[in-house]
Amino acid sequence: MAADYDAIIVGAGVVGVFTAWALQERGLKICLVDREVGPAQQTSAANAGVIAPGYVAPFASPGAARKAFINLFQEDRAFSWAPSASASQWHWLLRWLSQGKQTRYERNRASMFALATYSQACLHEVANRLGLSYRSVPAYHVVFRTKEDFERSQSLRQQLNNAGLVHRVLSRDELFTFEPSLRDASLPIEAALQVQGDEAGDCRAFVIKLWEQLMAGGMHWLGSTAVDSISTVSSSLSECVLADGRRLRAKHLILAAGPWSLTLLKGPKHRIPIYPIRGFSLTWDEASIPASVLPRLRQLGTALMDDRYKIAITPLHSDGTSSLRAAGMALLGPPAASDRIALARQREAANTLWRIASQWFSGLPQATFDQANSHARALPRFWIGSRPMLPDGLPVIGSLSQHASQSGLWINSGHGSTGWAMAAGSAYLLADLILGALPSCDSLAVSRLPSKAIGSASLEARSNRLGARPSTYPIDTMDFSPLRWCRRAQN
Ligand SMILES: Cc1cc2nc3c(=O)[nH]c(=O)nc-3n(C[C@H](O)[C@H](O)[C@H](O)COP(=O)(O)OP(=O)(O)OC[C@H]3O[C@@H](n4cnc5c(N)ncnc54)[C@H](O)[C@@H]3O)c2cc1C
Repeated sequence: MAADYDAIIVGAGVVGVFTAWALQERGLKICLVDREVGPAQQTSAANAGVIAPGYVAPFASPGAARKAFINLFQEDRAFSWAPSASASQWHWLLRWLSQGKQTRYERNRASMFALATYSQACLHEVANRLGLSYRSVPAYHVVFRTKEDFERSQSLRQQLNNAGLVHRVLSRDELFTFEPSLRDASLPIEAALQVQGDEAGDCRAFVIKLWEQLMAGGMHWLGSTAVDSISTVSSSLSECVLADGRRLRAKHLILAAGPWSLTLLKGPKHRIPIYPIRGFSLTWDEASIPASVLPRLRQLGTALMDDRYKIAITPLHSDGTSSLRAAGMALLGPPAASDRIALARQREAANTLWRIASQWFSGLPQATFDQANSHARALPRFWIGSRPMLPDGLPVIGSLSQHASQSGLWINSGHGSTGWAMAAGSAYLLADLILGALPSCDSLAVSRLPSKAIGSASLEARSNRLGARPSTYPIDTMDFSPLRWCRRAQN
């Protein structure tokens, strides 16, 4: 039985498209399948776009459960919960709670940080080499509304210090000097945190550009094509069955179906608890932005995180036009990513996003869920995304078999809240595993060993082989390399 392709990738979100790229670049004959008509139509479609390795951290942290509980009773809450009768929600919740211990949190965070740091270097390299722009703004500020909020960020600042990240605290006036277009903001601002090298960009726009490069390079694209099942045929052949009954075979089959990955997993299903944690965004395109706001938005050169509400405010500048996106909130809701979210919750999320965004830029129109009025004037686009999340917050990257060498089934999924920030690195890591250039990366593998922090050694080995890839960031004053960070993580 012959293989149709060297590799088939199921899922054309940011993770699947990057994975396709990393493999096609190595000369593999690729087929990319997605049930959507084009790439990045689901979780990668309208996220906050932030790339800030210093803040990449698991949801499960010391005190997170208490904070989430208190949050349930607050207005404009960052976290909400729709209890489900499904055992999988409770199962996930219990496993999530068990990851909140300090030592586990630190270990998980170190792994994510290493991956995100490496990933940013890979993204820069790919974007530079192909001449593709991805960056909308070259800065990101986490803004604290009150003194108490700022004081609570002490451990975060300590983590940035420990990681050797160059950062500084700005007063309200310093923030406004740095970013004059924020001067009319009506919220209280105690301080803002700025980390050198943080940035934001339109994830979907970049994924589409990369997908176009893949197409130009000969990749076979199967859009509007759902995959029903995946399996191994032999030690050197894997197969996916499409919804129309067709069978496609390849030496390697990679599952990158984000929050839907679990639906295609039969055997090791219970070991990969990927849960769809919903989040929301509102995007105001130029047509829906009042004339009083537009000039300031065009000048806005930073993305913002309103720490109190965990809502990101991101300007998206591209081809002479500017949009504004507010994104955030976490809903532990129905267990299947395709399950519907109650309209009342959608309204609540849209109102919260609008209220907070309006405190930064007043006069923004509100979203409407009223069909009759929806065409009457330009309105923001409302989006629901499902973060594919594991209880420990780490993605799962590696073989789906206990014996990697005997199976061509692989997974690259579970990137949670930071898939855009980790996709490029995850893709190169998986490509190295598939091609045998890296023997293993235990801390991200299906058979995770809880006692070992990432793959720092693996990432270092990987960084050593970067070859043409940059040894330092091409951002002017950035003075550390992924390799150096990996060394730091090991200490
Ligand atoms: C509100 C919000 C804000 C966020 N902000 C950020 C941020 O600022 N920075 C950051 O780094 N990350 C952010 N994220 C997270 C990021 O968006 C995700 O981690 C990332 O998009 C996941 O990408 P993915 O490719 O794994 O999944 P997806 O983009 O969902 O791709 C999976 C693909 O698989 C396809 N698929 C599924 N099942 C099948 C099947 N059976 N057959 C064929 N195709 C199938 C789907 O159609 C989909 O296209 C945010 C997420 C949310 C919700």
